[in-house]
Amino acid sequence: MFRSPARPITSPHRLSGALSRRQLLRSAAAASLAPLLPQRLVAETAIGSARLTTVSDGNLVLPGSFLFAGMPEEELAQILAAHHVDPARVTPECNVTLWQDETQTVLFDVGSGSTFMESAGLLLDSLDAAGVAPDEVTAIVFTHAHPDHLWGLLDDFDDLVFPQARYLMGQQEWDYWWDPETARTIGTARQAFAVGARRRMEMIEDRIERFGDGEEILPGVAAMLTPGHTPGHMSFELRSGSEAAMVIGDAIGNDHVAFARPGWEANSDQDPTRGAQTRSALMDRLAQEQMLLIGFHLSQGGMGRAEKTQDGYRFIPA
Ligand SMILES: [Zn+2]
Repeated sequence: MFRSPARPITSPHRLSGALSRRQLLRSAAAASLAPLLPQRLVAETAIGSARLTTVSDGNLVLPGSFLFAGMPEEELAQILAAHHVDPARVTPECNVTLWQDETQTVLFDVGSGSTFMESAGLLLDSLDAAGVAPDEVTAIVFTHAHPDHLWGLLDDFDDLVFPQARYLMGQQEWDYWWDPETARTIGTARQAFAVGARRRMEMIEDRIERFGDGEEILPGVAAMLTPGHTPGHMSFELRSGSEAAMVIGDAIGNDHVAFARPGWEANSDQDPTRGAQTRSALMDRLAQEQMLLIGFHLSQGGMGRAEKTQDGYRFIPA
């Protein structure tokens, strides 16, 4: 089920015609990063007649304090050791979901772009490896507006990376980051997130489509409000025929602590109490229904299932 990209980095359609500015930028970026690239695993499966793939945007590098502050130390240490996670330096994957059926090519989030972290921003190369050109993407659906999910919207010239796509974001999420007050109230640790989100959202203000909890936003794609990580964080249930999968974004943000103790409040959630409630309810449902889930920061491509254990849950990669 997991494979390394089998295709060469340059797809056939790029060989004809002149190189665009964007392609030049991308080749330059690829050349400078080539020796550092992690192996880009993608996970892929069929859901009914649709194809579900995760494409890597690279990974983040975070201090454990950002994720684990306030958690019970001894138990935390045991969970992290069992998952071989270095508490000083956590390196979560960034897995963008690609949903393709007869009529649409949909991306859930767009990754970090080139200005957030050196280890992330690889989405375009991964898409290329999956055989998808940016202008073939018909819709971009955002789980939330944090940098690693939104900032890949623009290239280094502030042009839209996916010019042909429709853009969709939950109404509450949009309103929160659009509000100029947010940069003032969000706290210093996340102030750059707010300024960066607003700047990018201004570039799609005239074409953004906003939606609410429970709406079918695209054929076979239903939105489900999963707040806490951000005020308007959305998950998405994908359906084709009798099969289903759930894109959970950062509602379940890692495959160690978040699975082992979903009820623990996490400093990485903007509203830790709400985040823990959302995570516990979502985990319960995913485990009960054994529904395929795709988590943005889960390991091995992020696709798998939740399995109940004696005192929590565990992530079983697909
Ligand atoms: Zn994230």
